[in-house]
Formats: sequence, C-alpha cells, structure tokens
Amino acid sequence: MKVKRLELVGFKSFMDKTVIEFPRTVSVIVGPNGCGKSNIVDAFRWVLGEQSAKQLRGDTMSDVIFNGTPDRKPMGLAEVNLVLTGDNGGFPGQWAPYAEVQVTRRLYRSGESDYLINKQVCRLKDIHQLFMDTGLSAKAYAIIEQGRIGAFIEAKAEDRR
Ligand code: ATP
Ligand code: MG
Repeated sequence: MKVKRLELVGFKSFMDKTVIEFPRTVSVIVGPNGCGKSNIVDAFRWVLGEQSAKQLRGDTMSDVIFNGTPDRKPMGLAEVNLVLTGDNGGFPGQWAPYAEVQVTRRLYRSGESDYLINKQVCRLKDIHQLFMDTGLSAKAYAIIEQGRIGAFIEAKAEDRR
C-alpha cells in the first residue's frame, strides 16, 4: 500500500478542494507558520478513523469543519479522501483485486458522519481492517506530531526508555 493522493474539502483551513499528490517515496510539505501543514497531518489521522478531537488539536469533533474567515462563511461539511495504490503487496481481503482504494470520511455540522471505501458507505471497523497489517493507524506511532518530537528529545533518559 502506498499513499497516492490526499484530498481535502472543508477540512480545517482547507475550505476549497485541495489535492495533494504524493508522487515519490519521500514527500515533504513546507510553508510558513499557520499555513496548514499540521492540518494536513490531522487530515491523515482523521481519515484513518481518529475519534479523539484532542488528537486533532480541537475541543470537539466539529472543530475540523472549516469555521469561516472574515470573508468566507463557515462550511457545513468536512471531507477527506485518501487514495492508496496497491504497490508493495496490495490490499487485504476483499480489496485485494483493486489497484487503487479510496478511503473517505465526512462530517456534517449536524453531527452526522460517513465512512466510505471506494465510495461505498462502510463501518469504521472496515477502515481499521483495511489498515490492520500495515502498522498505519490513528493510534500507531506512524504519525508523530511536532510537539512529541521535542518531548522525546528533551525527555530524561529513563523516561525515553
Ligand atoms: P506551524 O508552522 O506554526 O506549525 P502549520 O503550518 O502547522 O503552522 P496549522 O496548525 O496546520 O499550521 O494551521 C493553523 C491554521 O489553521 C490557523 O490559522 C487556524 O485558524 C486554521 N484552522 C484550524 N482549524 C480551522 C477551522 N476549523 N476553520 C478554519 N481555519 C482553521
Ligand atoms: Mg504545525
């Protein structure tokens, strides 16, 4: 499995549809403070099924929905699509025949939410199962944010161990 593309609409600061391609083995996102780099990491966490608003740097889950700016109205829906290719071993189970799989998460301001795989509504459990053997999940150390690297470097030797 390999990340091919991440698409965001109405997610945090990404009010307009934003498509981020991951064409090479190493990709880096750079930009000035506050431009949305960490929001992209949050989008990865979220589409993988994160249930904790705090892990997404918010107070409630609806904080992921674009909240408006002085010249743009708030949005009613946040959506993130993660497109994966079957490189390096393919997909597990029923997804094995596919060359590409698209995972989608949506949240409406009303609180209603959807999880989809290849545009078909599915359960959160199905998304967990898709990533089960990859080591990639919202809880694994596959995603390590800014603050945690600092905490690791500055920790006492015993704590680090
Ligand atoms: P730094 O380099 O300081 O770490 P960054 O590029 O990681 O910055 P982010 O934390 O991703 O920046 O983005 C912060 C911006 O996202 C802030 O301007 C914040 O107002 C905006 N933002 C977060 N949630 C929402 C939301 N729901 N609606 C609109 N904007 C949002
Ligand atoms: Mg940041």
